[in-house]
Amino acid sequence: MQYDVVIIGAGVSGAAIARELSRYQLAIAVVEKGSDVASGASKANSAIVHAGYDCDPGTFMARFNVQGNAMMASLCAELQVPYKPIGSMVLAFSPEDEVHLEKLYQQGIQNGVPDMSIQTGDWAREREPHLSPEVQSVLWAPSAAITCPYELTIALCENAAVNGVSILTDFEVRSLQRDKDAWQISAADGRKISASWVINAAGVYADCINALAGGAPFTICPRKGEYMLLDRKEGTVVSTVIFQPPTAMGKGVLVSPTVDGNVFAGPTALDMQDREDTSTTQSGMDALTRCARLSVPDLHLYNVITSFSGIRAVLKEKHDFLIERSGTVENFVNVAGICSPGLSSAPAIALYVRDLLRDGGLPLRERPDFSPHREHTKPFRHMNRKEKAEAIAHNPLYGRIICRCETVTEAEIVAAIHSPVPARSIDAIKRRTRAGMGRCQGGFCSPRVMEILARETGMDLQEVTKFGKGSWMVCGKIKEDGRNGEDQTHA
Ligand SMILES: Cc1cc2nc3c(=O)[nH]c(=O)nc-3n(C[C@H](O)[C@H](O)[C@H](O)COP(=O)(O)OP(=O)(O)OC[C@H]3O[C@@H](n4cnc5c(N)ncnc54)[C@H](O)[C@@H]3O)c2cc1C
Repeated sequence: MQYDVVIIGAGVSGAAIARELSRYQLAIAVVEKGSDVASGASKANSAIVHAGYDCDPGTFMARFNVQGNAMMASLCAELQVPYKPIGSMVLAFSPEDEVHLEKLYQQGIQNGVPDMSIQTGDWAREREPHLSPEVQSVLWAPSAAITCPYELTIALCENAAVNGVSILTDFEVRSLQRDKDAWQISAADGRKISASWVINAAGVYADCINALAGGAPFTICPRKGEYMLLDRKEGTVVSTVIFQPPTAMGKGVLVSPTVDGNVFAGPTALDMQDREDTSTTQSGMDALTRCARLSVPDLHLYNVITSFSGIRAVLKEKHDFLIERSGTVENFVNVAGICSPGLSSAPAIALYVRDLLRDGGLPLRERPDFSPHREHTKPFRHMNRKEKAEAIAHNPLYGRIICRCETVTEAEIVAAIHSPVPARSIDAIKRRTRAGMGRCQGGFCSPRVMEILARETGMDLQEVTKFGKGSWMVCGKIKEDGRNGEDQTHA
């Protein structure tokens, strides 16, 4: 296949760029090494649309954070992705912290963050009654918000796909060669495509992709952040994003609601060698417990339902995003070092990359049939009684609850499997429907979800995976079909 633009990496950066470019008459592909989109940092982060006060003034981070924050509400509305403008507080426990708050405030002013103020601890406790009595003052930023990072990424990809972008999963780029006026791009499984332009949005592997293309070298250092997620029971303990003062390693541990009504604490910050190690550790959980209780002492940690981690792609050379047309290789754009606030910045990064391509000579003619809207049926759990009755009358599969914790129906799971970016694993279905995200973490619904996935795709049950190749759910049958009249049973 010959494309005008190939984007490597279907995280929120690649997805936002693809969706932005889908407005134009271009042949575009997004290639992703995972079995689903949102396989990297975009599936496991704090989900905060940051206000933008903690980025150094004059950096891409500051510029795109503030611009992206301003764009996010309307983007989420177009794509039907949850978005809650709940504001954020940075806490000060000591006079030294208060000096730091003032610095953040001044930075925010320089960066163009709207409506910030420094408030007393009592003001903060009136809004957030569970906040520590030790809090002396807070930096209040009402423009901060929360969203769902993987849903945003999936929605961007779905909207791009509906507007003609090819989303190629399980496509791990292994070689990039520039022949005359096109890039030849080869995948690990032997697939080959070509493109006039390549955009490198490969997250923690962006330095490796740049090296494959022969670009001037840079280094990405992986930095892990662990989280603990609490049950909805704890959902009312905080109603805004609660930060502690930032550290040299990042924005510090925060306690925040999620758009789905849970609460989480995290992230830790640990530099790693391994770019794939998303394990969680006892020491990480202990650190989170300590830090989270400094902010919210009566957080009930027995309500933790799961832990997870994400890997930040930190650029070694400078504390900023690296977004530029390569100076050494033709028609190659790096979108690298996209650590936090990359989620908040994604819509603005997409506009900047569009301009880089246009300035580099790519003709951008608008498509008359571009649709910015993503069709998405309201989740059953959010329907009122009348809507539920109508949904069931229209499609009886709405009457079958598969995930009891999150009230996810068979109709929604089937829809995810047949969506514009089809779900092909248990985790892909989970991220599209929330089946398995509740208190039992898939204990009850996973076998049913597996059966539905196998039935709808024609896969054998043994081919069903949790998140793609190598993550099979069953390893074989413990009894042969029909032997001695016994039922087929899977191990
Ligand atoms: C712990 C943590 C907390 C964070 N909190 C926030 C926050 O609250 N707010 C915020 O704004 N930002 C936050 N961020 C940052 C944000 O998550 C990232 O900036 C954003 O997700 C980066 O998106 P991306 O698309 O650049 O990278 P990724 O999401 O990592 O996507 C890169 C994709 O490239 C694919 N890929 C890699 N190599 C290849 C290859 N060879 N071939 C094909 N595909 C390949 C990967 O599989 C991956 O899917 C946080 C990050 C972390 C880790």
